[in-house]
Amino acid sequence: MPDHEAGRFSFDGYAFPYELVLDNALVGICFVVDRRLLWTNARMNELFGYADGELNGQSVRVIYASQEDFDAVGRNYAAITRDRRYTHNLEMRRKDGGTFWCTLSGQRIDPADATSPAVWVLQDISDRLHAEEQLRRANARLEQTVLARTHSLERSNATLAAEIERRRAAQLALTESREKYRTLFRNLPLGLLVADAQGKAIEVNRVLQRSIAARSRKHALEMLEDDGLVLTENGTTSLAALLRRHIGGDLQGVDRFEFHWRTSKGTVREIAVTAAPLRSHGLAAIFAFVDVTRQRRAAERERQQQEALAHASRLSLMGQMASALAHELGQPLNACQSYVGGLQLRLQHGSATFDDVHTAIDKIAGHLERATEIMRSVRGFVSRKPVPQIDTDLGALLRKTLTLMEPQLRAAQVRPEVRAEPELPPVRCNAVEIQQVLVNLLLNALDAMQDTPVEQRRLEIRLEREKNAMLAVVVRDTGCGMPPDVAARLFEPYFTTKPTGLGMGLMICRNIVESHGGALRLVPGRCRGTSFKFTLRTAEQ
Ligand code: ADP
Repeated sequence: MPDHEAGRFSFDGYAFPYELVLDNALVGICFVVDRRLLWTNARMNELFGYADGELNGQSVRVIYASQEDFDAVGRNYAAITRDRRYTHNLEMRRKDGGTFWCTLSGQRIDPADATSPAVWVLQDISDRLHAEEQLRRANARLEQTVLARTHSLERSNATLAAEIERRRAAQLALTESREKYRTLFRNLPLGLLVADAQGKAIEVNRVLQRSIAARSRKHALEMLEDDGLVLTENGTTSLAALLRRHIGGDLQGVDRFEFHWRTSKGTVREIAVTAAPLRSHGLAAIFAFVDVTRQRRAAERERQQQEALAHASRLSLMGQMASALAHELGQPLNACQSYVGGLQLRLQHGSATFDDVHTAIDKIAGHLERATEIMRSVRGFVSRKPVPQIDTDLGALLRKTLTLMEPQLRAAQVRPEVRAEPELPPVRCNAVEIQQVLVNLLLNALDAMQDTPVEQRRLEIRLEREKNAMLAVVVRDTGCGMPPDVAARLFEPYFTTKPTGLGMGLMICRNIVESHGGALRLVPGRCRGTSFKFTLRTAEQ
């Protein structure tokens, strides 16, 4: 236990070695009276670069770096209140003029007396300040690094957030589009079927299920394998087999085909299919089915109506030619009659020789042949029998037509001029229909030349090659021509400028030519009269 004895500590009888302790303290210590140093410890002397005892008696001014610091500390120290210690960080001066940073801490011996001696402790804080400065700089660097990292992190974060948002949007769009396509697939008013590479149906939409009268998707898939439902030329097959055939050819582009489907009620529907290749997820093709039965029937009805109309028009043309034909037919018959009459007379008088009879019969046979030929061509022209499209020599068909129209041409005092390019290929056509077009154009030409002086009447028919494997027929007359308002309405039904005309001829001709893949038009020309031109596909293509 320490005890106080005459101002000294003693421990168990040992005197405490104050001076030794103060001298060896790690901080500078000094005893100051009236701002004069009375005693300084070894550490303080060392701090300020003085020899032991050298500072004793000196003014504290010597250790301040400047007069201002000295004055400021004097003022502040005098102003401190009781029990308060004075502490200040200051730059101090060594004996050699160098400076260093110190923490000063002073305390009066008698706190109540401002003039009381004081003990000061001085601590070199240069290292600490240096360390603090280093630390501050390190901190600043760290802060800067953190700031830079934060910025880059923020940027990365922003990029990441944008990427996440983009992916989310893409995912959403994908889901939406998947959903959209699924909805479309299910509800498209078109039968759809998706098949894999083995031709197996993977998906069948509701429209297709309904149109094959399937109760469910499963039932539809079963029906696809039923080999009695698709009618072929040789019997029946299954729809799955039919589709497999189309995938089997390694579907490259869009493929179109048709088939006949036997419904559960036993009726037959015509189905058109469009197959498009699919190149993902092991899928091979998507097939779109359209029931074209009604369209086909409507087209067939329309074709029959056109045919009936064309036939009626042929009858009408024939009506126009009837009197000339009757006249034409009358000639061989009259000739036959006079040969028969002459022969009868000779036979009655018994003057007929075998040669006479033979010659007369030959003549009669010739005239009858001519009459039969006329009748045959008339019958062929007005026949309702459907005529197939066959490869036809257009020159021969024109000659046949001119023969049919011979009486008409003769009555009109017109000699047709035919100019045909050599070695024209045949055209694929319905000969009766094309003959009808020719008759119509020729009769119109004759009508148009009624008021043309006989010597100026010319009817030219040219057969020539066109580009794109087509042949053209041009019919040119030197008739009245036509004003623009007539030209504009030529092909309208019931348009006619003739008192007994029907106004259906050119419209029907255009239908016929177009149904052969050609075109009929008026050829504008500066010469007198009118030219019509129609084209037909050659059988070569
Ligand atoms: P239609 O002969 O019964 O009048 P078309 O349809 O054949 O019916 O002809 C329509 C109209 O076109 C004719 O009335 C006539 O005015 C005009 N037309 C046709 N061909 C000629 C032609 N070669 N020259 C002048 N006008 C023509």
